[in-house]
Amino acid sequence: MLQYSLEKYRFFDFTLENYYSLLKLAKENYRFIFFDNLNNFKDKRIILRHDVEFSVPIALEMAKIEHSLGIKSTYFVQLHADFYNALEKRTYEQLKTIELLGHRLELHFDVHFWDIDSEEKLEEYLQIESQVFKTYFNKSPKVFSFHNTNKFTLSCEKETYAGMINVYAKKYKEKYGYCADSTGYWRYEVLEDRLREAKDEVLQVLIHDGMWQNEVLPPRRRIHKVIDDQAAYLKLTYDETLKKFGAKNIDWEGEVE
Ligand SMILES: [Zn+2]
Repeated sequence: MLQYSLEKYRFFDFTLENYYSLLKLAKENYRFIFFDNLNNFKDKRIILRHDVEFSVPIALEMAKIEHSLGIKSTYFVQLHADFYNALEKRTYEQLKTIELLGHRLELHFDVHFWDIDSEEKLEEYLQIESQVFKTYFNKSPKVFSFHNTNKFTLSCEKETYAGMINVYAKKYKEKYGYCADSTGYWRYEVLEDRLREAKDEVLQVLIHDGMWQNEVLPPRRRIHKVIDDQAAYLKLTYDETLKKFGAKNIDWEGEVE
């Protein structure tokens, strides 16, 4: 079973080392561009999109890898993520570092948080989140992507909402290629094949940070690793904070040194 899953779902693809190799391959055939300068070039183009979902530290690793190759991409940040808090200091600083590396931060929007079921409500709440985003990140988002698409979000096909580009607009869905690593495997086409064939004029590639690790793991284990790493970090931070303030840190065996 192990060998079968490993090959069927290409666990070997999803390492950060291979992420570097895939981008190197992509660079041979494509120019990397942002959503708003799609039409400024005529050669084959890739829009590299990250929906920041699980691990901002890994997103930052990816941003560094891209930077080392001279590639720029877009990181869509959630304000209501289950796995991270974009407004908490360490995470916020990591996100700002991604931006300093030349990448862009945009809005990853969760309709489920607001129970949105109409385009009017969508516009209203996009405005609200755009304001919050601007308050903290010192710029209004120009593009947004939906988090966990459903029937309603997929029916939102206009090019813009609340003045922001919608990455699920009809034009992106119909005219341009799309390759995603959602839930940690290639559901439709394998990215490496797609990059090698280079048949798309414009290809949107969607990447989810925590689905890429240093070691070869099944998707579920990759996310468990994100959770375990974050737990270890929080435990360490708790101990260090108590030490810093000279407070007693009490365990079963008494005070922890
Ligand atoms: Zn998402």
